[in-house]
Amino acid sequence: MIAEQIRARGVRDQRVLDAMNRVPRHLFVPGAERHEAYEDHPIPIGFGQTISQPYIVAFMTEALGVEPSHRVLEIGAGSGYQTAVLAELGATVYAVEVIEALAIRARQLLDELHYANVHLRAGDGYAGWPEHAPYDRIIAAAAPDDIPRAFIDQLVEGGILAIPLGVINQQLHVSRRVGGKQETIGTMPVRFVPMIKKA
Ligand code: SAH
Repeated sequence: MIAEQIRARGVRDQRVLDAMNRVPRHLFVPGAERHEAYEDHPIPIGFGQTISQPYIVAFMTEALGVEPSHRVLEIGAGSGYQTAVLAELGATVYAVEVIEALAIRARQLLDELHYANVHLRAGDGYAGWPEHAPYDRIIAAAAPDDIPRAFIDQLVEGGILAIPLGVINQQLHVSRRVGGKQETIGTMPVRFVPMIKKA
């Protein structure tokens, strides 16, 4: 998976490759689909949601440039796989997942794997997680139409945000907060589920 799907497509940050090498991805995939865990596509995890394609996880993680000192907000934890990759990089991760059953399952697995630097709660992540703000990095795995104001407010100056935006022609936006505004670093066409707005 690492060599053919990720390294060969240009993700070269060795810390990201090592982190992904250490996370047992098959444990984050439900039993019936487990044999597909290291294949080059997203996989259903129940409740109409999917675990992201390995390359997308690698691309977004590299784009964030996560350091061990960082506090990272993750919206849409789903299976908890991306959460584990961020935790492997040494960051303190604050993860939010709107589907309670997925949040419970992800938290249980991350506990079993002894990721002590992960805080995961069930709830609507549209408003971020203000109690622990500000964050050095914010990553979202579900797409709103526009960047939620809360994400910009909860990002440190110089912090990086990676988020898919829109429905048709959805684009991953990677941007840096400069002077209270988001400056685009790069974009890429992607396909994520829409961000559910509970409120
Ligand atoms: N990185 C995850 C991706 C899961 S798919 C993984 O690889 O497993 C995206 C997730 O975003 C889904 O689990 C969905 O329930 C969640 N989601 C959608 N809208 C949300 C919201 N408003 N707040 C928090 N999570 C949300």
